[in-house]
Amino acid sequence: MVDVVIAGAGPAGMLLAKRLEGLKVVLVERKAGVGGKPCSALVSKRFIELAKAREWVEGSYSSLQGDGFWLKTRIYLLDRDGWERELADELDIRFGEEVQGFRKKGKMIEVKTSKGILKTRWLVGADGAGSRIGKQLGARPKELLNGLIAEVEGRYEGIRIWLRPDGFMWKIGRKEKIEYGGMIRGGFGVLKSFFDLKHFRAKSAPIPIGPPGKTAFGQVLLLGDAAAQVKPWSGGGLFYSLLASRHAARAIFEDSPEIYEDGWRGELESYIRLGMLFRQFLPRVKLSGSLRIDLDFLQPPISARNE
Ligand SMILES: Cc1cc2nc3c(=O)[nH]c(=O)nc-3n(C[C@H](O)[C@H](O)[C@H](O)COP(=O)(O)OP(=O)(O)OC[C@H]3O[C@@H](n4cnc5c(N)ncnc54)[C@H](O)[C@@H]3O)c2cc1C
Repeated sequence: MVDVVIAGAGPAGMLLAKRLEGLKVVLVERKAGVGGKPCSALVSKRFIELAKAREWVEGSYSSLQGDGFWLKTRIYLLDRDGWERELADELDIRFGEEVQGFRKKGKMIEVKTSKGILKTRWLVGADGAGSRIGKQLGARPKELLNGLIAEVEGRYEGIRIWLRPDGFMWKIGRKEKIEYGGMIRGGFGVLKSFFDLKHFRAKSAPIPIGPPGKTAFGQVLLLGDAAAQVKPWSGGGLFYSLLASRHAARAIFEDSPEIYEDGWRGELESYIRLGMLFRQFLPRVKLSGSLRIDLDFLQPPISARNE
């Protein structure tokens, strides 16, 4: 019997595991190793500092260029795979094993995996946007968008965005490549025709928008993308996963699921709600000039909290 089983060794699961020092924690990860998630990994200074990820910064820009407007904000390009490999260090991760479901037995939880049964006091579903645990609990995001990335060789300086009614598209200059992307309802066909792309390396993953009504079910918690702790206006989930993992750790140490539900919602839900509204209205308003934004905590009118 262990104290905590975490389904999924992505950022959310690993950030939580790091906070559970002193407890017996097992992460179960279906992939053969960490990393490899399709992700632009654009983050704020706050994220870099709180995640202690400075050595994994590949570059930074001071604004995003839209159609006729500039969003002024310091934005960092993270080497996410490198950072995740460092996070995984010293964690007990069972790779190549998939969580398939769970059963509560009094105070104990039996977790069924592709390799057997694990007995635990707490189970955390940090298993991403298509969370198995979330499905079993009937807790799903309000919407799943397609997160698409098309990489081509080349050089480009800056970040350009295009707002659309269903989301947005982007072009980012990275080390030796250009990343074209989209958080949209459509597929790669949309990206191809919009950017006139011929040959590219395609990667995609779903982006959950709008958290389910409940994320703590007794000793079973949903965390990160599994709980749609994602900024609805950008699809960014790394920073909110990090903040939510702090509440999850406190709930586990204090043996109180409510601490988790109340804690993360108290800190993030108003911003997520505002982000849902922002997403609806932004493509209908004409932005112009230079606007300061806070990448993490959106505020009306668009302004910065402390950058
Ligand atoms: C195209 C795209 C661009 C993005 N750009 C940004 C960005 O610029 N900035 C930002 O902050 N965020 C961005 N995001 C969002 C970010 O990637 C996610 O919010 C973040 O990965 C959430 O972390 P997580 O650990 O909750 O989920 P994940 O990173 O998805 O990790 C879940 C893990 O669980 C594992 N797993 C799944 N099911 C099981 C199972 N049944 N058993 C065992 N293991 C399982 C998976 O293999 C995976 O390793 C982007 C997402 C996409 C798709």
